[in-house]
Amino acid sequence: VRESGGDKIVSLSKATHKALNRKALIEKRLLQALDQKNLKVLYQPQVNIESGKITAVEALVRWEDEVIGVVTPDELIPIAEETGLINNIGSFMLEKACEQALIWKKAGFDLKVGINSSVREFRDKNMAKAVLDTLAKTGCPASLLQIEITEKFALEAEAATFITQQMRKLENEGIVFVLDDFGTGYGSFRYMQILPIDTLKIDQTFTRSLMKSEKTQKLMLGMVQLGKSMDLNVVAEGVETAEQANLLKSFGCDTIQGYHISKPVTPEEIEILLVK
Ligand code: C2E
Ligand code: CA
Ligand code: CA
Ligand code: CA
Repeated sequence: VRESGGDKIVSLSKATHKALNRKALIEKRLLQALDQKNLKVLYQPQVNIESGKITAVEALVRWEDEVIGVVTPDELIPIAEETGLINNIGSFMLEKACEQALIWKKAGFDLKVGINSSVREFRDKNMAKAVLDTLAKTGCPASLLQIEITEKFALEAEAATFITQQMRKLENEGIVFVLDDFGTGYGSFRYMQILPIDTLKIDQTFTRSLMKSEKTQKLMLGMVQLGKSMDLNVVAEGVETAEQANLLKSFGCDTIQGYHISKPVTPEEIEILLVK
């Protein structure tokens, strides 16, 4: 008994050790990847349910390191947040998204490009300026940029005031803010109240149980109606079937995103979908 107990302790600490090593390795390789701009971006379309037209795309980071292999966003983003490298990923994605939005505009496509960022990034004094500088540098019109924001933690009152100001500054320039993962975050309602939000994106966990749960149907209908009553655009994400899309349409949802339309794809594949 003692021996096996001892083994357990050893293997536990081994696992912890391994996790720490992996984190350190990811951090090291990520620094290099950022330096060499070795990250990739895929885009997932959002479609207006009524017209069937693609109105926007969401930029999602992809990273395949030559040593580590594929590191998924679900592993990458928390580590990047912890180490502060999330700001570097944020700048990279912003620049890429702006460049791509301009390419599409020049090709005659009227398409907004969304990037993901944490509300916390707006605590940085330079965030609003950095966004405006990138728009200026790339020549991308502000009206083509969407910023999807999420926050897993509560915001202190002082920070909230500052963040709201930063976001207003960008909103005045024409940038659109999307409240991502709506219905799950700590501060969903609070954010709706204080931040200059244009669009609600209902979290995909709701979509996933939509056809199985009457409660979820009532919740989603309620969220759509809430958004509409506040003159917000409402997006449902994680839509995988025509059944889900039809029900969401009957709820009055404006826009859908998910595998039913397309998985995240390259810019070239987006163009194929646009001319279809
Ligand atoms: P998110 O912002 O909620 O993005 C949606 C995620 O759901 C994406 O996963 C997308 O590939 C996936 N997805 C889209 N449609 C469907 C569907 O129909 N079914 C299912 N099962 N999944 C679907 P991904 O790309 O792995 O990203 C995961 C999360 O990582 C994102 O969730 C976002 O929070 C974060 N993330 C990704 N890229 C970035 C980035 O560039 N910056 C930041 N800060 N976060 C990012
Ligand atoms: Ca998102
Ligand atoms: Ca989301
Ligand atoms: Ca999510």
